[in-house]
Formats: sequence, C-alpha cells, structure tokens
Amino acid sequence: MKRRRIYGRHRLSRDAERLAWLAQGLADSGSRLEDAWLEAEIGALIERLLRAGEEDALNQALDRLHETNARAYDELADLIEAGCEVSRVGDTARLIIALPVLAWSRYAIPTRSVPKATLDALRAQLGAHVLGAEARAHFADYLFSPDQLPQGYAETRAFADELWNAAAAGKDLKVDTRRLTESQVFVSDVRYLLASVQVPVGRPVFRWNETEGGRPAALAAWREQGGPNFQNLLTGCAYELLLPDAYFAAWRQADRDTRPFALKAAVEYLKTLFNEPANRIRAVAAPYYEHWLEEWRVAFTLANSDDVVHGVTWPLLGHEDENADLGAEIETLLKSTGIGEVRILDTRMPLEYCDDCGAPLFPNPDGENVHAELPEDMQGTPAQLH
Ligand SMILES: [Zn+2]
Repeated sequence: MKRRRIYGRHRLSRDAERLAWLAQGLADSGSRLEDAWLEAEIGALIERLLRAGEEDALNQALDRLHETNARAYDELADLIEAGCEVSRVGDTARLIIALPVLAWSRYAIPTRSVPKATLDALRAQLGAHVLGAEARAHFADYLFSPDQLPQGYAETRAFADELWNAAAAGKDLKVDTRRLTESQVFVSDVRYLLASVQVPVGRPVFRWNETEGGRPAALAAWREQGGPNFQNLLTGCAYELLLPDAYFAAWRQADRDTRPFALKAAVEYLKTLFNEPANRIRAVAAPYYEHWLEEWRVAFTLANSDDVVHGVTWPLLGHEDENADLGAEIETLLKSTGIGEVRILDTRMPLEYCDDCGAPLFPNPDGENVHAELPEDMQGTPAQLH
C-alpha cells in the first residue's frame, strides 16, 4: 500500500493546519521529552478526528507535509496509523493485526466466513509461534480480499472499535457479510484475516521480542504449523503465508511480497493452463509512464506466438522511482522460473487501459500495447476479463 495521498488544492482546515504544524515540531524536536508532549497533542487530535469520522483533515495535513516536509509527513503518518490500530484501556494495550496469505488459482480465490473451529486452531498456532506469551487474539471471522478491507483511516478505526468490543467480551467478531463488496478476480491476490491482540501494558506483543530467532523463525513456524489451517479456506489455490504483523505494516509487506509472487504464479498458471513446460513460455516486461514512471507491466506469450495471453502489473512502492533497477529485478525473478525467454523493453510505454473493461494493456514483443487475452477456446475461465 502506498500511503494515501489526495491532492486537495483548497485551503487547509484549522485541524489540518494544527496537525501539520505539530508534526513539523515533532520532526524538529531535540529531545524525547519534547517528542512525548507533541505526540500526545497530535494523538489526542487524531483520536478526536477519527472518532468523528473526519478524516479529510488528516489527509489534508498529510498532503501538505508530503510536499513540504518528508520527515514530518512520516511522523504524522505513523501517528495516524497508530490512532487506527492501537488503543489502551486501563492496563491493557490493544493492537489490530493482519494475517496475510498470498494465493493463486485457476479459479476465483475465495473470500469467505471462517468457521469457529478453524479460528480456534489458528488462534492456538498464532499464540504458539507469533504472539508474546501474555498476548490474546480475537479474530474477525472472515477471509477478506483487499477490496473488502475498511477504506480509509476513519473506517479502519471504526472496524477496530468493533473488533475491540468483541474482544472485550471474549469473542471473535461476527462480520456482517452483506456489507462487503464483491472482490475483483485475479489469478493471484492477497487474502487477509484480521485480529485484535490484547496484552498487558509493558509486555511484548510478539514472540520475536521474547525469544531468539526473531521474525524468520516465527515465520517458518507459522508457515509450517499455521499453514495447513488455510487449506479448507483456500480450496483450489496454491498459497503462501506471510508473517502476521500490525495492520498497516502487514499490509505494506504484503504489497511488496505480492509482486514477485504474482510473477511466479503467472508462470505456474500458464504451465497448468496450456499444459506446456516453462521453457515454452515467454515474458515481455516494460516500464509504464504517465508523467513519471508509474509501474512495470509484464506480458506473457507462448514461445511460438506473439499473442499476449496473460499480464501482470508490478506497481512502484514507497520511495521507488525510475532510479530503482526494477527491470533487472523482474528479469532475475522471471529467469528463476525457468521460462524460455525474458525480454526487457526500454521503451517508455504509455499507461493505457482497455476502453471497455478498464484492464491494463500489456507490451507485446513488438513493444505495442495490447489486451491480454486467452485463445478463444479457453475463454470463460474466471481469470479472463472478457
Ligand atoms: Zn478489455
């Protein structure tokens, strides 16, 4: 996820002005004591705005700082995220965590309610391998697609409040599935479980703060012991668990890990679909520009054809720009899958989409923007857009 940016040209509201001013103070602060005062001021203002559902002021302040003060921007963004995902009641600290799973399938990747028995099994594995000894988890009982997650800061905080209320009563949150949007269908995508973790104030939230081995050991154990519990949720999918973490951090990491996963999944998908070995598949990758580099797009063809049968986008993340050597990274990844040919175009391709369905267009081997389409006799699979 890129942090939200909405470029409003209008003047900042009073709350936004004050937030931006305080955040600049935090960026310039010379002591932990000054930090603590500023953070408390900013935190209280954020809390009030989130509770009132007024996130315009938050976004306005972020926009202003994005253009004027990168350090203050990061400080404010961190505090806003904390306002959405962290709270404290008495001696108990509470955090919203996300449990991301990368998946790919020839069929639609499920989003669905999760049975209590599965949640209990996941709770046990989460407690054993990911959470601190005194931390307790309560889930939202739904496997979400990215489109179904709360949109924006205020909605995220409202969802956190629901989850915290259920957790305070010792329950998992029953998600009202009627209000969820339908997910877009992709060959590969992320699915999320969300949970509230509560821990006595001053005690570690995560296992890697308590024991040797750190995050890598926790991830390995989580994949091995937690992984099988997703089998019934993700029927017909190949999947890979990522490390559960605080909501926004897990979300950003999932965005990052999705990129290589999607490329490898595309090759596996095409091998299965066409019943061809990897060396009969070819990839063509190119950088796509609007005013600046926006993303890379990777097209796939069979070895004996110039028809683009499938495409994957590789969005830029965080501070990446045209100086990042993404072409080389994409080339290395694709070659590691054993495909027959990888062509990296240095043409600046225009960022175009299909007029009918809005799908991104992909580079064919001649460097033209085309629609990715399966041969006519294969159409009708869910991953095909028209
Ligand atoms: Zn189209």
